[in-house]
Amino acid sequence: MGIKVAKFGGSSLADAEHFRRVKAIIEGDADYCYVVPSAPGKRFDADEKITDLLYQCHRQVERGQSHEEIFAKIADRYMSIARELHLDFDVEGMLLETSEAIRRYKNPDFAASRGEYMNGIMLSNYLGWDFIDAQDVIKFDRQGSFAAEWTNEVMAEALKNHPRAVIPGFYGSYPNGDVHTFSRGGSDITGAIVSRAAKADVYVNWTDVSGFMMADPRIVKNPKVIRELSYAELRELSYMGATVLHEDAIFPVHKAGIPTNIRNTNAPEDPGTMIRMQTTRRDDQPVITGIAGHKNFTLLSIEKAMMNAELGFGRRVLQALEDFGVSFEHLPTGIDTMSVVIADKELVTRKDQIIQRIQQTCQPDSIEISAGIALIATVGHGMSRTPGTAAKLFMALYEAGVNIRMIDQGSSEMNIIVGINIEDFETAMNAIYRAFVKD
Ligand code: ASP
Repeated sequence: MGIKVAKFGGSSLADAEHFRRVKAIIEGDADYCYVVPSAPGKRFDADEKITDLLYQCHRQVERGQSHEEIFAKIADRYMSIARELHLDFDVEGMLLETSEAIRRYKNPDFAASRGEYMNGIMLSNYLGWDFIDAQDVIKFDRQGSFAAEWTNEVMAEALKNHPRAVIPGFYGSYPNGDVHTFSRGGSDITGAIVSRAAKADVYVNWTDVSGFMMADPRIVKNPKVIRELSYAELRELSYMGATVLHEDAIFPVHKAGIPTNIRNTNAPEDPGTMIRMQTTRRDDQPVITGIAGHKNFTLLSIEKAMMNAELGFGRRVLQALEDFGVSFEHLPTGIDTMSVVIADKELVTRKDQIIQRIQQTCQPDSIEISAGIALIATVGHGMSRTPGTAAKLFMALYEAGVNIRMIDQGSSEMNIIVGINIEDFETAMNAIYRAFVKD
């Protein structure tokens, strides 16, 4: 028998019907040993997430106003789930106690964490499984940084005593016991941490999509699902804006060599996406794994004759950025040119000062500033072994009439990034997708 850890996102636990689906999934596979729930999410577009309502409750309390009206909406959601599922424990008591504690503690993290806490209690009751409070087993240091090794020890010890348990996502505690949360969407991280401590064979992350798409479906129509990708490819795609999994959820499982499977609670028969340490591409699969992109970058192109022979030139350019607390994204260089790609948000208030500093310390022949740049990353291990990949990519952009402003190929050869004008973003994404993926 293997060990599986399942994490269910907010939309997978938004109402009683979804609780039933979750139970069917868990009971349909005896390998599931640990379940990590989020707080109930949206049931429809205009609905409110429980976590958002809890933050609102806290804001009311902080202003010295009553949070009861907002908390009543939260209570309604839990009560209707409990009623429909015939849960036989004191749900009303749990809600009253929670509302009172939010008022008393005046702590935003505590308030927000109660969504997962109460959902965990409900789900453990419904499944008939033990409940482990994340406050006891997920540890942060005094500064609020996640204490990975300490948590792993404490968690592994706790799991030994509970062969099957529900552990709420999103929160843990400081050394003094006070509740602290991860950033939003942090239940993904809890699932990964539990998987590591349980030495799971696989971490199954149940959500409301059937895995990672090869491109953003808002831009490319009906993109294919990525069946398999490596953690390194996932990192490249997430960095460029593909979001399904919280970024910090990768580290614990990657480190422990545990694969992550993204699955859809609403279509449990779909195999979803498998993220592994390494992947093997079949010949009938596209050479690329996925495409992701981001808008709003600025390109600084710095030119100086004989730059290649001038000692310390690059360092002085980067020093100017560092001095103003700006980090850069890419650094493509030529013989007498150096380009720096920087996210617009980094530059907002500091652009003029940085340019001035570069003028002073580097004395370039020219500096050209191009705002309105979008970056598109074409990612895939397969690219490094397939001649003609770059040619295909650039030909596709040429044929679509897209002017390439910058090219950067990562040293791992699994990523080619192009910088283009923002207006060409959609056209370029579609052109690249169509060039590599056959229907
Ligand atoms: N409930 C939290 C949020 O809405 C954490 C999570 O769902 O993962 O961000």
